[in-house]
Amino acid sequence: MNTIEKNIKDLKTELEKYNCQLVAVSKTKPAELIKQAYQAGQRVFGENKVQELVEKHEVCPKDIQWHMIGHLQTNKVKYIAPFISLVHSVDSFKLLKEINKRAIQNKRTINCLLQVRIAKEETKFGLTENEIEEILEETHKNNMEGIKIVGFMGMATNTKDPERIKNEFLDIKHLFDKKRNQNMELTILSIGMSNDYPIALEYGSNLVRVGSKIFGERN
Ligand SMILES: *Cc1c(COP(=O)(O)O)cnc(C)c1O
Repeated sequence: MNTIEKNIKDLKTELEKYNCQLVAVSKTKPAELIKQAYQAGQRVFGENKVQELVEKHEVCPKDIQWHMIGHLQTNKVKYIAPFISLVHSVDSFKLLKEINKRAIQNKRTINCLLQVRIAKEETKFGLTENEIEEILEETHKNNMEGIKIVGFMGMATNTKDPERIKNEFLDIKHLFDKKRNQNMELTILSIGMSNDYPIALEYGSNLVRVGSKIFGERN
């Protein structure tokens, strides 16, 4: 077994106890390495750039489920709409409307997560609680058949301070539980990356996005 296969197997064993699914984040890594993870049974991969996503989708096995985890520009939705299985990074109603339109053109329903701003860092994308509420309401009113909002995604501050990460994950977990009480379609909480997924698991994550811990550091 090579390193990537072993990493996948070990992670899956760890996540199983929490009923948590794994998104293998393959951004910047060649298709060769994706195929190694595929050999280990991994079928869900995450990318953060549209062009790279489209190229890899073309050359990799067709039963892979591709997740878009990075900031998505409205004018690029059309390139991934035919095949994307989950968009983690919806951060505006405008983007959601475009995903809806392109999904309908492709006779699909595209599952989406709203990206919640939990990190106190200015540079991070994401929605405030009020914005989340507005988007959920608008979506409901507009009867958008091309999309389904199935949960939330969040990125904690990149810090070594576990207390800060815990607080941020607790915030998104509270919001998730609150909204889920009003909307049964919200089932996915996507929190946790290589450095903080063990904490995320304690705070109710059921989808982690892990890259460097599987494929090695990126340049
Ligand atoms: C790159 C990335 C990840 C994975 O990061 P690692 O630290 O390599 O696990 C997860 N989520 C998002 C949104 C990313 O951009």
